[in-house]
Amino acid sequence: MNSLTQRHHAHLATLLEHLELAGDIPLSNWVEGELEAGHGDTIELCDPTTGEPLISYRDAGADVLDRAVAAATRAQGEWMSLTASERGRRMLNAIRQLQGHEETLAQLESVVAGKPIRDCRGEVGKVREMFEYYAGWCDKQHGEVIPVPTTHLNYVRHVPYGVVGQITPWNAPMFTCAWQLAPALAAGNGVVLKPSEMTPFTSVALASLLETGGLPRGLINIVNGLGPSTGAALTRHDDISKLVFVGSPESGRMIAEAGANRLVPSVLELGGKSANIIFNDAKLDDAVAGAQAAIFAAAGQSCVAGSRLLVQRERFDEVTQRLARACKEIPVGLPDDEATRMGPLQNARQYQSVTRMIDDAINAGARVLTGACRPDGLSEDATGYFLAPTVLTDVTPDMAIAQQEVFGPVLVVMPFDDEADAITLANATRFGLSGAVWTQDPARAHRVAGQLRAGTVWINSYKAINVMSPFGGFRDSGFGRSSGLDGLREYTIPQSVWVETGEEASVAMGYGGGQE
Ligand code: NAD
Repeated sequence: MNSLTQRHHAHLATLLEHLELAGDIPLSNWVEGELEAGHGDTIELCDPTTGEPLISYRDAGADVLDRAVAAATRAQGEWMSLTASERGRRMLNAIRQLQGHEETLAQLESVVAGKPIRDCRGEVGKVREMFEYYAGWCDKQHGEVIPVPTTHLNYVRHVPYGVVGQITPWNAPMFTCAWQLAPALAAGNGVVLKPSEMTPFTSVALASLLETGGLPRGLINIVNGLGPSTGAALTRHDDISKLVFVGSPESGRMIAEAGANRLVPSVLELGGKSANIIFNDAKLDDAVAGAQAAIFAAAGQSCVAGSRLLVQRERFDEVTQRLARACKEIPVGLPDDEATRMGPLQNARQYQSVTRMIDDAINAGARVLTGACRPDGLSEDATGYFLAPTVLTDVTPDMAIAQQEVFGPVLVVMPFDDEADAITLANATRFGLSGAVWTQDPARAHRVAGQLRAGTVWINSYKAINVMSPFGGFRDSGFGRSSGLDGLREYTIPQSVWVETGEEASVAMGYGGGQE
């Protein structure tokens, strides 16, 4: 173990101890209000800053999963026996239990995910925001009365599914966990969530803290393990009534298929290849700063990363030169350094995939404007998955690098001639998660936004995301929505209830009872 990994290993042990997640091997599951070790294969985690082994834990295994689903089923009944207002109060109380643990949670996320500590602190704040927002929805799910053309009173209730299965990725584990837990609970469900095998601990820590706030024991269960083992078992479990998946399109397809085979619906929050469009009349200082933040935050490991920059031809050279200069200024470094704005990639597989995609792009004719190498100024023991902010030009829209999600700090810049050209280019991928338009012409801004096949569009901004506003994709970026009322509705089923209010019951054969 080199000195950096030794330091991180000791720090991780202290954090797990502090959160009471330590043991001979870490207690990696939260089931029925208890910490549990897994019984399956051993999973090794590496230190993103060095690539050296950091810690190991065991895959949950079938028994742990079965107990988790049974616990969620029992607890969901208890949850729904409370009044809606009481559920809201308990959600608020649950999130208050994070108080005093925020920094530990942020550090745990940072050391395992390799994310800058500043970003992790921000994400803990988002976790609180999500619970506060959805707690408020608990007693505001009114249902509707439908003015049917008969003597019936017809009303619609939004009832929970029961137990939902959630599967999350490694790029923002705690954020994504809370993002899906909060609406699921507010809608009245129990949850079994499987985090990425790369980042198992913060979801367990979050669940254990939340449940101390008065949530029924077993309402939230976290099972850790690999996708093909514990993940697949969760998608096939008979007592899971809905699947919510956040991850890659490849895994998303498998999850949706597994659900469809059991006639269980799914929500898929998948990847993106988002276009950031800069018109001639844009405020270039803002646009270049926005373009840079859009791709290099989280080292590009963000579903909404603005990985394609489309620049109107007259400003192309100016924008690329400014970008190249700006990239050299981004502080790339160790995640626990307060100054770091971009850390390493999270794991070896991702690093290899990103560097291979850069090499393939260069072989296909792309030119490296900046990056594609180890960042300057790193300490010698930082031998892990660091990659300098990378900008590629001479990229054509048909190249793999312009079509596929890289999920790393790699930006391709392409010119366009006019508005129609920009829209065609922006929509010319299989993805449709997000996009942005930079212009000072408001009419054009709205016109272009309306033509983009993307679930979220920003105008003179990027990455403004809030739990109040619906989020999700078009096409290969997935279906269904998270956040806001739409996100809540994904966790309920409308139930239509008909009550005869006429003096005589209408009991005609056929559909007569519903006709005027
Ligand atoms: P991934 O698809 O490899 O893994 C995601 C999760 O799925 C993990 O928990 C994994 O164990 C599990 N999994 C994999 N195969 C499975 C199977 N057969 N059955 C059940 N579970 C399985 O994705 P990743 O590499 O962890 O994350 C990166 C991807 O996530 C990127 O494509 C990114 O764009 C996407 N993402 C999307 C959003 C969004 O909101 N749209 C947010 C964050 C990340």
